Amino acid sequence: MNSTREVAVISGKGGTGKTTISASLATLLEEGVIVDADVDAPNLHILLEPQVEESHRFMGGFVAEIDKNLCQRCGTCHQLCRFEAVIAPKEGAYQIDPIACDGCGLCHLSCPNNAVSMIQKEVGYWYRSNTRHGPLFHALLHPGEDNSGKLVTQIRTSAQQFAKEKGLKRILIDGPPGIGCPVISSLTGVDAALLVVEPTPSGIHDAKRIVELTRSFNLELYLLVNRFDINREMSKSIEEWCQKERIELGGKIPLDPRIPQLLLERRTPLEISEIRDTLECLYEKLFN
Ligand code: SF4
Ligand code: SF4
Repeated sequence: MNSTREVAVISGKGGTGKTTISASLATLLEEGVIVDADVDAPNLHILLEPQVEESHRFMGGFVAEIDKNLCQRCGTCHQLCRFEAVIAPKEGAYQIDPIACDGCGLCHLSCPNNAVSMIQKEVGYWYRSNTRHGPLFHALLHPGEDNSGKLVTQIRTSAQQFAKEKGLKRILIDGPPGIGCPVISSLTGVDAALLVVEPTPSGIHDAKRIVELTRSFNLELYLLVNRFDINREMSKSIEEWCQKERIELGGKIPLDPRIPQLLLERRTPLEISEIRDTLECLYEKLFN
């Protein structure tokens, strides 16, 4: 392998077992970097138990701030703000509600006393950590912040740079569920994606939506049916659909009552020999 190969694990919805599969693949990863791109609700770290080596503030958009010593209570900002983010107290300087403020800057431009500044706000943190399976790049947005696509791009870019510096050839990305902006940021430029699906009507519906999304990216697409035996008929129709859509079936994993206990012990389904065989074969397809 000459250049770095990037693979994203995705799912059309939450609860398909995507992170469990990602953690298993991370355990098998050689000369690689792991990225937890589910920045709204990261949980890969629970299984990988990272030791943080670096932490960085992640700055998002701007928010207005009023200097109470300069504000003359003229009311201009209050009248102009379309987001009702300027609070007019009975006494003293006007104030900004930072949650409501959209950062448009109109109050800053309109204040006759130059009392309003635009301040860039911290919206989360991102980290580089060590795990027993290699370096992990992960992040956490502050509650209510919505810059997840940009934060995914930030940790992916940092992971790529790190891999290049250290001569690491593989990047495994645990993508966020759904089809929104952070998923697009997780898929942009990857070599391959693994779609984890469970055989339920909603699972199939969401899988079809995400397959449509992946068609706009030039990537190899694999599909893994998780807990295939909860509905064998539906699993079979997923396999037939894969054939029709030219999606490579990456494997099928049964519902195994031992898995929840393994996860509680910070271990992965790789400890179950027949599942290990499927996942090792999948790893070979994805990375070699
Ligand atoms: S426009 Fe400026 S001076 Fe007027 S209320 Fe707003 S902050 Fe105060
Ligand atoms: S920056 Fe825009 S949204 Fe924020 S308080 Fe000023 S006018 Fe309102």
